[in-house]
Amino acid sequence: MISCKRNFNKHTIRLHNIFKNAPEHVLDAILKTYTSFTRKSTRTACRKIIRNFITQNQHRIVHKQKACRILLDPVGKVFDLGEIYNNLNIKYFSSSLNIHITWSHKSNKRLMGTWKDTGLEKNLIRINRLLDTKKVPTYYINYLVYHEMLHEVFKQRIVNGRIQRHPKEFRKLEKNFPLYKKACEWQKEKLSYKKLL
Ligand SMILES: [Zn+2]
Repeated sequence: MISCKRNFNKHTIRLHNIFKNAPEHVLDAILKTYTSFTRKSTRTACRKIIRNFITQNQHRIVHKQKACRILLDPVGKVFDLGEIYNNLNIKYFSSSLNIHITWSHKSNKRLMGTWKDTGLEKNLIRINRLLDTKKVPTYYINYLVYHEMLHEVFKQRIVNGRIQRHPKEFRKLEKNFPLYKKACEWQKEKLSYKKLL
């Protein structure tokens, strides 16, 4: 709202736009607060004037939303995540889900996929680019995307102080996925930490 820089005897005060056309007594209070040595009681009174002015003009403050520009890149060299997501959405979720999907920009050695329900990446599934290779079977990518989609259905919750990401119902539905066992086995064998792909 107000910032003041002091350089030797020179003061530079920057004010938020809402102070444009502010009444003289408000500007006077700002000057007294930031540029001169005033008594404590005067400073307190000045601050009160400034605070009141800000409160009365709160509606003029425009909160610019953080730019949310996440570059979606679902079409990989081998797998088209958009196509996989659409097919799964039709087949298992009656086209009810509305989320974005993309390959990660960088490869990650540990995390194969993520789904977030907060922040800038809200409702975005990100799949590790490391998996965009012919060495990875299609059923595994399908399984992984399906798993991340289930997170949209069963949002994480806190139970007994712990975050529960995969509740029982989640695991039950996950097992319904055809080739679930095969996908898990493949993951265990090929994606174990030391022999990643
Ligand atoms: Zn998960």
